[in-house]
Amino acid sequence: TVETRDRLRIAIQKSGRLADPARALLASCGLSWRESRDRLFCYGEALPIDLLLVRDDDIPGLIADGVCDLGVVGRNVLREQDFERRRSGTPTAFRELRPLGFGACRLALAVPDDWTWTGPTQLEGRRIATTYPALLRDWLAGEGIQADVVTLSGSVEIAPRLGQADLICDLVSSGVTLAANQLKPVATLLESEAVLAGPASEFEGERAALAEMLLRRLDGALRTRHSKLLLFQAERSSIAQLLPLLPDADAPTVLQVDGADRLALQALCHGHLTWQRLEDLKRAGAQGLMVLPVESMLA
Ligand code: ATP
Ligand code: MG
Repeated sequence: TVETRDRLRIAIQKSGRLADPARALLASCGLSWRESRDRLFCYGEALPIDLLLVRDDDIPGLIADGVCDLGVVGRNVLREQDFERRRSGTPTAFRELRPLGFGACRLALAVPDDWTWTGPTQLEGRRIATTYPALLRDWLAGEGIQADVVTLSGSVEIAPRLGQADLICDLVSSGVTLAANQLKPVATLLESEAVLAGPASEFEGERAALAEMLLRRLDGALRTRHSKLLLFQAERSSIAQLLPLLPDADAPTVLQVDGADRLALQALCHGHLTWQRLEDLKRAGAQGLMVLPVESMLA
């Protein structure tokens, strides 16, 4: 049993690919911390929300055990441990609450460059090296393939050259590491990104209200992440040409400037405002175009 806590505790990666973006995202939700010297525990200052800095692999277990309330972890790690628990008959104890839009990668099968890939049946009886045995076994079972899963703790990409396996199942983002090892991706088992993970059951007491507030702020932060405020002026007559160029904008605010024909518009755009789009807008009659970042938003 876990002692009752009034404060919320979030586990994030101590160092690695997800560490900085996780912290930045939480900071954008108004959280701040006093750094402790051991740097494993950061006491929340602005709000009663503390951070625990750990290895990403430990995050699902910390949530399952109630040591932490929430965590930022790759979907790949969360699913792997979920499947592993199911296989061993341990109850599901955590779940994905929100995709966070960073740390994108995919879990893929990769075969030596000189293979001609004809499909999953080619894997029958082969040895596949991976650090994700539960996800791989689940996928193989779904395809009806019997293969030999070789579980490694790292450096999976050199396994074929070392003769430990015929192919691999590993995380891929750019594909550069695979290419450097004369491997090519042939099938995707899971599309992954960093996610906010939480317990399978609901929070209670103080922590329920804190978690709800954090999720609300997080949704706002995720929504405004790529949003920009677009300001410009135009003649009333060119509005019909301008609005179709802003399909990703909320209904713009329109102000009259001088006389009835000159308007000032402000529109919140959710897609990328490329130079190309700005030039198209200018050509359609927009003047004094200005793009401003959105710091926060509360729906
Ligand atoms: P830790 O020391 O915390 O165990 P790690 O070495 O297991 O760190 P990282 O390499 O920092 O972890 O990767 C963390 C997560 O980043 C992965 O689980 C995955 O979700 C994501 N990620 C994004 N792109 C890649 C990639 N190309 N290779 C590996 N992970 C990636
Ligand atoms: Mg790890």
